[in-house]
Amino acid sequence: MSIFRLPSPEQQVNYKPLNKRGIELWIKRDDLIHTEVSGNKWRKLKWNIANAIQNENNTLLTFGGAFSNHIAATAAAAKIHGLKSIGIIRGEDADLQNPTLSKASDCGMKLQLITREEYRRINDRDYIELLRHQFGSFYLIPQGGENYYGVQGCGEIMSELTHAYNRIFVACGTATTLSGLAIANTSRSDIYGVSALKGGVFLIENVKKFVSKTFNDQETEREILSKVHLLTDYHCGGYAKVTPDLIEFMRNFTSESGVELDPVYTAKTALGMEALAEEKGDFSEEKWLFIHSGGMQGLQSIERKIGEKIY
Ligand SMILES: *Cc1c(COP(=O)(O)O)cnc(C)c1O
Repeated sequence: MSIFRLPSPEQQVNYKPLNKRGIELWIKRDDLIHTEVSGNKWRKLKWNIANAIQNENNTLLTFGGAFSNHIAATAAAAKIHGLKSIGIIRGEDADLQNPTLSKASDCGMKLQLITREEYRRINDRDYIELLRHQFGSFYLIPQGGENYYGVQGCGEIMSELTHAYNRIFVACGTATTLSGLAIANTSRSDIYGVSALKGGVFLIENVKKFVSKTFNDQETEREILSKVHLLTDYHCGGYAKVTPDLIEFMRNFTSESGVELDPVYTAKTALGMEALAEEKGDFSEEKWLFIHSGGMQGLQSIERKIGEKIY
């Protein structure tokens, strides 16, 4: 289970709704990087783990919800690197038997369920102190891998690309991945972040924060940000909400392209991408890249929750 497929494959696929408008669609298959540590979570963990090891810290501690891809990835990556891991999970009623948490636990992750109220404090300094008191020394990775090392790792997607693209599409939860792409966007593609959350307009602030930390030069910042676009209308009712229309869209996308999507992030990104193609019409001779950020580990948990197989 420790074989990482890097650079991840970059494949052209058939997809009529785009092809009929003259658009070539390519997919960057970060979902194939690893079976357990999929997609952008591996990108975000890479430099964090390197840093933990360099600092001789043998325990990772992080946070997430009951279906969190980040929790699953951190648990698996810790195991691969011979590190201990602790997952602080939102909701004292979280189902420890669900596929995500039971796999994390199988990887040796120590899980602690906390109330939603307590979870709101996870970024407070005094709360972290309490955790250090309870668990001893650990290397802290923020929820979703949202830190500067995470951004750096995601930027490496851009340097792996073997073609130039007019437009690039990526899912957003914290916009850490989007920030990394924006910062490494030397080919000046238009980059679209599609929010998986309701009310995702705030995500642009995260991008601005990371961009300004990186460049510290207003003109460069403005130029970088002018190529970043947020699509906030494709959350299908909110984070991890799955509608019958979304399921139908996923099945159709997969039967045409041969690539499976996850319902929380990548399906909604593909939906936003297709809507953009339909809305604006003339994109003939453009090359578009869809970044498959992974998330397939969550499929089973979601199917269990909605009581229906998607594929
Ligand atoms: C976590 C996740 C995202 C969100 O990435 P951010 O960097 O937090 O915006 C996107 N896609 C998948 C599959 C994820 O698991």
